[in-house]
Order: sequence, then C-alpha cells, then structure tokens
Amino acid sequence: MSLHGIKIPVLMYHKVGALLPDGNIDRFISVSPQNFDKHMRLMRKLRYSTVTFESAAKQLAAGKPLTEKQFVVTFDDGYECVGEHAAPTLHTLGFCATVFVVSSATGLQNSWDYANNKPVLPLMGWDRLLELQAEGWELAGHTSTHPHLDRVTDEVALEDIVAGKQEAEARIGRPQTTFCYPYGGYATRTPELVKQAGYMAACTTKSGIADSSKNPMLLPRVKIAYGDGAAGLIYRLIIRPRMPSMRRP
Ligand SMILES: [Zn+2]
Repeated sequence: MSLHGIKIPVLMYHKVGALLPDGNIDRFISVSPQNFDKHMRLMRKLRYSTVTFESAAKQLAAGKPLTEKQFVVTFDDGYECVGEHAAPTLHTLGFCATVFVVSSATGLQNSWDYANNKPVLPLMGWDRLLELQAEGWELAGHTSTHPHLDRVTDEVALEDIVAGKQEAEARIGRPQTTFCYPYGGYATRTPELVKQAGYMAACTTKSGIADSSKNPMLLPRVKIAYGDGAAGLIYRLIIRPRMPSMRRP
C-alpha cells in the first residue's frame, strides 16, 4: 500500500457502437461493441471486479485497503447504444456501471451537441435506466440540461445542478450522490457548487487514476479511445499512468 492510499481506476466511455458513416468526428469518446467486450473480458481475466462510482468514492474517502482489485465503468450522457451493446456484456460478466444522466434529456437526444457538429443519438429513457439500476448500475448526476458550467454564472450553474439532482431522484427513488461535469468543464468554484447541491464526489474528463489523495470533487478518469483493443486498455490503465513525463502540465 502506498502512502497515497488506495487507487481505483475509473474508465470513461460515452458511446458504444459502430463508427458513424459521416466520418472521424467524435471517435475519441466512443468504442466499438467488440472492443468494449475485449476490455471487459480483459478486466475479468486480470481479476478485477466492478464497483459503482459512488462505492469507489466512498472507499477512496475511507482509504482502507481493498480486499480485491476494483474498477469503475462510467458512461456519460446515457446513450441508447450503451443499453443495447454494453449492458449485455456487463451483465454476462456480472459487472455494473455508472451512467451520468442528463435528467431533462432522458428518452430524447444529446441536443446540446447540435452546435458542436457531433453526432446526435438517442438517449435512454427512464424505463431502461431503471432496469439498469435494478441490475446494480448507478444513475448519477450530469445536470438537468448539460450546460458549460464554466461559462455560466454560479447561480445558473447551481440551479441546473440542483434541478438535475431533484429530477433524477424523483425517478430513481434514492439519493443521487455522485456527479460528472458536462464537457468536463468547470470553473474554480464549480466543485464547491456541486458539493453544495448535495453530491459527495465528482469526476472530470482529466486523465489519471483516481486515488484517495485526490480531491473527491475532481477525480480523474482513464479515457478510452475508439481504436483501443485489449493492448490499448493495458497501455492506458497500467503503462501510461506510470509515465508522468508524458502528462501535460
Ligand atoms: Zn456529457
């Protein structure tokens, strides 16, 4: 055990599906169903088990040694393709995941990406999300409308974060305790606003392995790229985090 306490890798996925015919955009945060399957089977082979982001955050806060190797699978936004292509693989392996839900957009589309020239795809509705929750998934916070929290006033940011939490909790029937910043965007005060809204932990889109020495409101994740097969995952999970010189300052 290092002096920094325990580490739990949090994998970051968005979409799991075939590359869209209209080109190369948006590849970085998407994987094919085949590669996703390879990643999960590799983690099983490496004797990892999954925990929700909530459970990981609680364990990081407690800092007690883990009894087994654990990792977290996260999906931002909650695309239908995740329920279609990733959920069966996870179910087969006895794995769970955390999905960061945009509470006012469930059953609709990622309309916030219209202006970004990114593919717009269907998002899971509450019925499907609740089925996943019943399988052990965590339905976590990602605001009500997916704003750039670093570009709006504190008042607007807090309102959207709180609305997202309240809308989601009315559906999921339990407290929502963790959060993810839309677009990975946050200003200096945003983590405090997220805490004020009642969340105990949050993750960013910054690369790194979450450990108990880090700010629980700014936990990093392991980004997975479209072309990553099993070797790509090993590189991102084990090799790259040990190469501090390659990190951006
Ligand atoms: Zn998002």
